[in-house]
Amino acid sequence: MPDCETRMRRTGLGRYTRGVTETTTALEALPLREDLRGRSPYGAPMIDVPVTLNVNENTHPMPQEVIDAITRDVAEAAVTLNRYPDREFDTLRAELADYLGHGLTPENIWAANGSNEILQQLMQVFGGPGRSVMSFAPTYSMYPLLADGTNTAFIAGTRAADYSLTAASAVEQIEEHKPSIVILCSPNNPTGTGLGLDVIEAVYDAVAAYNGIVVVDEAYAEFAQDRTQNALTLLPGRPNLVVSRTMSKAFALAGARLGYFAADPAVADAVRLVRLPYHLSAVTQATAIAALRHRTQLLANVDDIRAQRDRIVEHLTGLGLEPAVSDSNFVFFGGLKDEKAAWNYLLERGVLVRDNGIPGYLRVTAGTEAETSAFLDHLTDYVQTFER
Ligand code: PMP
Repeated sequence: MPDCETRMRRTGLGRYTRGVTETTTALEALPLREDLRGRSPYGAPMIDVPVTLNVNENTHPMPQEVIDAITRDVAEAAVTLNRYPDREFDTLRAELADYLGHGLTPENIWAANGSNEILQQLMQVFGGPGRSVMSFAPTYSMYPLLADGTNTAFIAGTRAADYSLTAASAVEQIEEHKPSIVILCSPNNPTGTGLGLDVIEAVYDAVAAYNGIVVVDEAYAEFAQDRTQNALTLLPGRPNLVVSRTMSKAFALAGARLGYFAADPAVADAVRLVRLPYHLSAVTQATAIAALRHRTQLLANVDDIRAQRDRIVEHLTGLGLEPAVSDSNFVFFGGLKDEKAAWNYLLERGVLVRDNGIPGYLRVTAGTEAETSAFLDHLTDYVQTFER
């Protein structure tokens, strides 16, 4: 155990105080795993502004009927909160299978606290020390963090200059590294564009050849231009394929934390080896089931979100910017001379968008009509004043 002096020197923060109860220390002074030293946690800014369009939430108001149903079902679940919840969440899995269709049964379904936890469980069980996970950058920023947390080596594959990914390029990179897990994000975050099924099929053939796992992260599937083009159609006969989904986006349930996957029943059996007992609370299960039973009302907003997204693409194109094709509820756009200045300009006017650290680009979530207008108006002023 280092003494006070050493700890103070190591942290360099002078935050260490002597009394036992008052003692605070710094991260570096803790006996942290060596491979986690110097890493940063996930950190999308949480800033309280009138128009929050930075984390791809569903910004449309929850229909009152759905709020009432969730409130009623959660109150009912509260009666038995002294008991552990259904560890197998049978009803929820049946509802999710029914929602997905494609002949899927509850045995094909697994759920967890957000698709982040789904991905973490998959890395725990198919990754880990001596194994690797590959995805194609730029893509969802949590993949490398989940790899770090599960001690899985992370391999950043690359895309073409326009951020597209062809089957040939993906297969070539996979054959070079032979990763234990390949994650294909489709529609991709932050670029917003979906992958062709031909790419997924080719990647699957390459990865299954050495018994690896392919995860298609379809967090934004419901917003796709062509909603029949999803990887669920590829599941039959592909036991190493996992399709990850979430209720955080189209279902407007980010606060409830419910992600799930569809796969061969053996994959669900595999994650049962690492999931914590009773990981899905009775409150979470009741909320998700109520939402699924009211999906017609909830998903009714998806069409408006897609319309706002298309409006953003059209408007930004008119401004001379370069929005990517979007199959999601957000738009990734380039052509800015100074994206940091644009981000600040918008923030000062109460509009929070995402700077993914890619020069010239920003990402914006499609909001309600009013939120989208606020974003478009301020960005138009910015471009006309500073970018011409
Ligand atoms: N995958 C992608 C591509 C995402 O963008 C997100 C959230 N932004 C997630 C997974 C995780 O979402 P959640 O844990 O809320 O399901």
